Amino acid sequence: MHTDYLPEIRIKKTLQRQAVAWPHCRTQNAGNGETQLPRFHFTPFEMPEAAKVLRREVRAFLREEMPQSTSATKARSWSGGAAEFSRKLGERGWLGMTLPKKYGGHEKSYAERYVVIEEMLVAGAPVGLHWVADRQSGPLILRYGTEEQRQKILPRIARGEAFFCIGMSEPGSGSDLASVRTRARKVDGGWRINGQKIWTSTAQHAHYMIALVRTGDGETRHAGLTQFLVDMRSDGLTVKPIANLTGESHFNEVFFDDVFVPDSMLIGNEGGGWQQVTAELAFERSGPERYLSSIRLFLEFLRVTGENPSELEKQLIGRMTAEMWTLRNMSMSILGKLSAGEDPAVDAAVVKDLGTSFEQEVPRLIQANTRSDVTLETGDAFNDTLSYLLQNSPSFSLRGGTREILRGIIARELGLR
Ligand SMILES: Cc1cc2nc3c(=O)[nH]c(=O)nc-3n(C[C@H](O)[C@H](O)[C@H](O)COP(=O)(O)OP(=O)(O)OC[C@H]3O[C@@H](n4cnc5c(N)ncnc54)[C@H](O)[C@@H]3O)c2cc1C
Repeated sequence: MHTDYLPEIRIKKTLQRQAVAWPHCRTQNAGNGETQLPRFHFTPFEMPEAAKVLRREVRAFLREEMPQSTSATKARSWSGGAAEFSRKLGERGWLGMTLPKKYGGHEKSYAERYVVIEEMLVAGAPVGLHWVADRQSGPLILRYGTEEQRQKILPRIARGEAFFCIGMSEPGSGSDLASVRTRARKVDGGWRINGQKIWTSTAQHAHYMIALVRTGDGETRHAGLTQFLVDMRSDGLTVKPIANLTGESHFNEVFFDDVFVPDSMLIGNEGGGWQQVTAELAFERSGPERYLSSIRLFLEFLRVTGENPSELEKQLIGRMTAEMWTLRNMSMSILGKLSAGEDPAVDAAVVKDLGTSFEQEVPRLIQANTRSDVTLETGDAFNDTLSYLLQNSPSFSLRGGTREILRGIIARELGLR
C-alpha cells in the first residue's frame, strides 16, 4: 500500500495541463502584444510508458528484497545503507542507469531513473551507500573524467561496488566554497594533499572521495581549484566520525596528511575545479529526495489516524498531500527539461528550496497534531519515526546548499541582486 500514494492520486486533467508558475514572478508582456511565460515555469511532464512499466517491476522487487526494518530505520533511507542491497540494485541494472553501456551503464532515460529513486525513497530502502556515486560522482566522471577513469570506475559504480563521498566543505568553507584551503602540491608522478574536509557524508564507508582542493592561486578565488579522485585507503588519510543530533555518525571529518594522489587521478582540468563542482552540485538539487525525506512519517500518520481521522487530521492530510503533489509535479517538470537536454539549474534551486521547506515542515505539523509527548526510541513505530525526523529535519535545508544560498541564486536569476 505504501508505494501507492502518489502516482495514483487522481487529479483533474485540466489542472494537469496547466503550468505551475512561480508565484512571485508575474507574467511579462514582451512588448509586442504577446504574453511570455514567467521566468520560472513548471510545465507538467508525463511519465513515458517504459517508466510506468518499470515502476511495477521496482515495486515487485521491493516487496521481495527490501530488508526487514523498522519504520524509523526506513525514515533514514538515503542516510542509511546496506552494501548487499546496493549490489542487488546493481544486478538489476538500477544503478548507473543513464550511463553508456560501454562503461557498464544501461542507457536508460532520466525518467526511468527517477522512477527507481522515487520508489526506493517511498519504500525507505537503504540506498545511502551507493547514493553519491550513482547520483553525482558517476555523471561527473563521465563528463570530466579521463577515459582510463571512466573504464576503471564507472562499471564498479553501476554494479554497486564502488561507493563515493564528496569532499567539498571545510571548516570555514561551506557556503563560501571558493575559500577552500586544503592544498595539493605537485610532486613527481602526482600530488601531495594536506588539509581537512568536514561534514563528509558516508566517508567511513566510501572507496573514493572526489575532493575539491587548491592547486594554485589564480587571479580570482575561483581559479586554482582542482578535483581529485582520492582512494580512501591512502596512507595519511584519516576519517573521524561526527555524531549528529540523533547520536548517529553519518558525516565525518577527513584529514589529509601528505596524502599521495597519482596524476592519473586528477579529474578534468587542473584549475578547472570550480566550474566542475558547480556542474556537480546541479546533479543533486531537484530529485524526489528533496521533498520525500519525511514521507515515512506521513505514511505512519495515515496508519495511526486510520479509517476515521478527525476533521483536523483530514485537513492536515489534505494539505500535506496537495503540497507533495505540487512539489512532485514541479520536480518532474525539471525531469522533463533534463530529458530535453536543457539545463534547469535555477528551476532546480526553486524546487530544492520549496521541497526541503516542506519536508522540514511535515514533522512539525504532525507533532503539533499529536496530543502525547514525543520521546526517544520507545519501540512505537509512529513515535520513533517522528522523534527521529524532528531531530534530523533541520539538516534537510543545509545539505547540498543552504536555503539562503539557493535564494541568492534565484534572486540573481530574477535580476534582484
Ligand atoms: C546532513 C549533511 C550532510 C552533508 N554532507 C556533506 C558532504 O557529503 N560533503 C560536503 O562537502 N559537505 C557536506 N555537508 C555540508 C554542507 O554542504 C554545508 O553545511 C553547507 O554548504 C553550509 O556550509 P556551512 O555549514 O559551512 O555553513 P555556513 O556557510 O557557515 O553558513 C552558516 C549560515 O549562514 C548562511 N549564509 C552563508 N553565506 C551566506 C550568504 N552569502 N548570504 C546569506 N546567508 C549566508 C547560511 O545559509 C547558513 O544559514 C553536509 C551538511 C549536512 C547538514
